[in-house]
Amino acid sequence: MAEQTQITATKRIQGASSEFVRDINRRIILNLIRTRHPISRADLARLSGLQRSTVSLIVEQLIQEHWVLEGPTGRLPRGRRPTFLRLNDERVIIAVDLRPSQTTVAVADANGRFLSQEIMATSADPEIQMKGLIQSIERLIGASRSQKIEGVGISVPGRYDDESDRLVFAPNLKWQDVDIRNPIAKATGLDVTVENAANACVLAAVWFDHMEDCRNLVVVTISEGIGTGVWANGQLVRGLNGMAGEFGHVPLDPKGPPCSCGGNGCWEVFGSNRAALRYYQESGAEGLDLTFTELLGRADQGDQNAIKALETMAHYVGRGTRMVVAGLAPERIIMVGDLTRSWHRFGPVIESEVQAQVLPGGCVPKVIPAYEDGMARLRGTVALVLQKDFGTLTDVPG
Ligand SMILES: [Zn+2]
Repeated sequence: MAEQTQITATKRIQGASSEFVRDINRRIILNLIRTRHPISRADLARLSGLQRSTVSLIVEQLIQEHWVLEGPTGRLPRGRRPTFLRLNDERVIIAVDLRPSQTTVAVADANGRFLSQEIMATSADPEIQMKGLIQSIERLIGASRSQKIEGVGISVPGRYDDESDRLVFAPNLKWQDVDIRNPIAKATGLDVTVENAANACVLAAVWFDHMEDCRNLVVVTISEGIGTGVWANGQLVRGLNGMAGEFGHVPLDPKGPPCSCGGNGCWEVFGSNRAALRYYQESGAEGLDLTFTELLGRADQGDQNAIKALETMAHYVGRGTRMVVAGLAPERIIMVGDLTRSWHRFGPVIESEVQAQVLPGGCVPKVIPAYEDGMARLRGTVALVLQKDFGTLTDVPG
């Protein structure tokens, strides 16, 4: 009897492991096609290290599932002409970027190319906002009839707990305890995934910016507040209740100005866009209703108060980044936000702040501006939906 049980268990383990290997191989091939297309079967075999017959079987399956299309035919100096494979761009994703001031709803293909989008003001009332969001998603679904929609990915300016399906922390949005996923899933019949904005930017970098070789990177998003997304040892760090990465709410000066989280003197009180506007107003300059973009413009026109305000902000961005470096030792730090448009102003200050306090034995990480600020969150939500089928990029051979 005991022997029988053992044989059954062994068979089950063997079954599971061969299924696991098949699944990993499928993800490797799918990701190679995604990142290197157009690509031939021969190149897939060479790059993956898998046998030609295994590659052909997986490719046939992916063609049947409509993930992959054949064509065009390649040209070689001699011999058979290879048929190239590419990702089917008729499979689309609905990407949503929910921000405190405005919300963007877009349709993107599996390559991260955006096909259409709608922008609406974000309502302070979550019920009104959710209604508007569902209507917008339904309009886009109606307009993309011939395409297969994989799901909806939503980036939020806060932390979303997957377990309880609640937005648990979003001080700049001022919504409390809102279920974002279920009402949209119910109304549209689509799979919905919700993720923190900085985490979405991490996925965008790893998926679309060819940073798959980087196993330790941090994204710092700087807008109304400061968020960080942490990719450590090749994985997204979510923490308990999805709350990991809130460096923006670590106090740099507990006696500092009040923060939207209820604390005082948090990093984002000193290093966010709103902080720069406050420094500018405190300098006695005119322009109470100024936007951050206008402040950047004034600095470019030589307004000394504006230049000083941005410099102060840059110092604090750098100072807070030291916490990130000391705590996580990332290889790269990607800065996302309007400040990247004035990187000549911000970059050198942030870099010198970071370099000033590298611990013995530590390395200075590369600090990189993400120039496509408006799209990073949206592209991240595309990756968020696709990773269910594709797995993480750690499955891709280097
Ligand atoms: Zn705070």
